[in-house]
Amino acid sequence: MLEQTGIPEASDINGVFPSDERLAKGPVAVIECFQRIPCNPCSTACRRGAIEAFDDINDLPKVNHEKCNGCSLCVSRCPGLAIMVVDMTYAEDKALLKLPYEFAPLPEEGSSVTALNRAGEAVGEALVVKVQNTPALDKTPLVSIAVAKDLARTVRNFRVTDDTSAESPGILRGDEAPSPMVCRCNDLDLDNIRDLMKKGFTSIDEIKRVSRLGMGPCQGRNCIPLVLGELSRFLGKPVSELDPGTYRPVVKSVSLGAVAEYDGEALTE
Ligand code: SF4
Ligand code: SF4
Repeated sequence: MLEQTGIPEASDINGVFPSDERLAKGPVAVIECFQRIPCNPCSTACRRGAIEAFDDINDLPKVNHEKCNGCSLCVSRCPGLAIMVVDMTYAEDKALLKLPYEFAPLPEEGSSVTALNRAGEAVGEALVVKVQNTPALDKTPLVSIAVAKDLARTVRNFRVTDDTSAESPGILRGDEAPSPMVCRCNDLDLDNIRDLMKKGFTSIDEIKRVSRLGMGPCQGRNCIPLVLGELSRFLGKPVSELDPGTYRPVVKSVSLGAVAEYDGEALTE
């Protein structure tokens, strides 16, 4: 279940996918944002009013697929990487998926990559059609990949190489590349993190305390694995020997009465 695994199931995906009729008209955004968190850049980014204005900052985004033209502005603005654009009209047998991608190095246009499902499992091959990485895109590069049409609802990411042997997840880059973003919630890039390590902050909790890493809306789900990878390289220890830091409950005011009445069932919001 999504609440337990964090991985949406087919029913979750079908619930947010545009209709077949809309998909047949051209590119359109798919928003997989399932958790009420204080976040709304998708709505403010959309110039066509396709994402309803939020009454409450914790609202889930509601997209009017008929108003959406697939421009992808919202894709690069979403700090949760929760949005992609799907174009089922790209080719007879291929769909084009425009995905946010924050790992480095970026893939080469024209190269083949391994298509991954939402659990990170390899499900096929994909062709990198376009890589967009400009400051105007607010630091999140967009990578368009072509996949077989019957994989359009399955693929949500890709892997540049098939090297799964590295124990440390993390950021790999040449020294000449611009410093990639690590924590979008608090605007920390890789150079910021490496500077802190050189100053002696060499645990997740220490870095968190001086930089607020992991304390934004994503609650560390994106940034902490990346920083653990960097710490692993910096300290010469495998990630399994590093302290992943202290996780505290999120984040929204709850009355003592609600806590007292809680019956142990999984909460849906
Ligand atoms: S893809 Fe463009 S038009 Fe569609 S919801 Fe996103 S910003 Fe709005
Ligand atoms: S996580 Fe992304 S899709 Fe969800 S509310 Fe924030 S900007 Fe919108």
